[in-house]
Amino acid sequence: MVDKDPRWIEEIRSGLLGWYDEAGRKLPWRADRDSYRILVSEFMLVQTTVAAVIPYFERFLRRFPDARALAEADTADVLKAWEGLGYYRRARQLQAAARQIVEGHGGTIPDDPEAVRSLPGVGPYIAGAVLSFAFDRPEPIVEANSQRVLARLIAMGDDPKSTPARRRIWEAAARLVPPVRAGDFNQAMMDLGAMICTPREPSCLVCPLSRFCSARRQGLQDAIPRATPRRAPELVGEACAVVRDRGRLLVVRRGPGRLWTDFWEFPTIHVSGPDPAGRSLGSAVYLTEGVRRLAGVDAAIGPVSATIRFGVTRYRVTMEASLGEAKPGSPGPTPGHGLIEARWIEPETLTSLTFSSASRRLIAKLGLVSEASG
Ligand code: SF4
Repeated sequence: MVDKDPRWIEEIRSGLLGWYDEAGRKLPWRADRDSYRILVSEFMLVQTTVAAVIPYFERFLRRFPDARALAEADTADVLKAWEGLGYYRRARQLQAAARQIVEGHGGTIPDDPEAVRSLPGVGPYIAGAVLSFAFDRPEPIVEANSQRVLARLIAMGDDPKSTPARRRIWEAAARLVPPVRAGDFNQAMMDLGAMICTPREPSCLVCPLSRFCSARRQGLQDAIPRATPRRAPELVGEACAVVRDRGRLLVVRRGPGRLWTDFWEFPTIHVSGPDPAGRSLGSAVYLTEGVRRLAGVDAAIGPVSATIRFGVTRYRVTMEASLGEAKPGSPGPTPGHGLIEARWIEPETLTSLTFSSASRRLIAKLGLVSEASG
């Protein structure tokens, strides 16, 4: 195993750190070694690109400048600040971590591996990132970029998602992380993966590690890591009703234990499972019954007015929206199964409530936002 060779390890460390000093990315959360800023950035970067995170990060830090501000905030405000980033469970976990930091550590993330690892939502990667970036502890990290670089450096041809391969990569990361400048080294590994050792057509000719790279030596850099076959997405059909009553709009709020807990939406029904083809999405009959069941309102529902498509985890969702009018004398609104609130709102209030990005697209597509401002 090449990563047991001390000379090889030394070459990788010095080559990578030298390159990082010249070419490493200047990112907002690297401006200092503030552990809270690093924690926030790492929660945001889960499943999201650096470019997408930067504006959110800066806004979020202005709103919640330290762990205490985040811990004491209303969760609805935290979700609102996170709106559009997706993976909202991360926002809740981050706030739970902030509360633990305040209650258990006086508001400052401690330089203590056990304490960092015990924070809600903190797995091996985020723990290693906080401990090495903020405190320079020689803790390894493995995320998508560094995993690819490491797999190529040691020419590991196994499926990178398999348990033995994961273990092997973490072992290599642990051997390589240096006792000094551990944080810089880990960030350099990520930067090399993002800028040079890219998923397709890695730029080996300008790579600072090319002389020591086993995949490159064997001409395997394009074949490693081995691609894992993707599961076909499951197709799902949903229909929602935008019901009005004298200009007001009917909205409902999701209850706990479901995707998008606490988020607002228009009453929405699931219409079809894995294959919605051939079914009658947005059927007025389904929706009329659904609006009564979900919000306790009797409404006359019109034809489909807008369609959007979006992905959630492994699902591809087709959502069809229909406009409707509450019938005179209708009861409600009253929240139905799985919902904690149902109410009429003025259109201008739409932007102050937290909707999923798919719902916000729908709002824009139906012109409800310009209606609100106009
Ligand atoms: S030589 Fe090529 S494959 Fe190896 S680490 Fe550098 S860019 Fe990646």
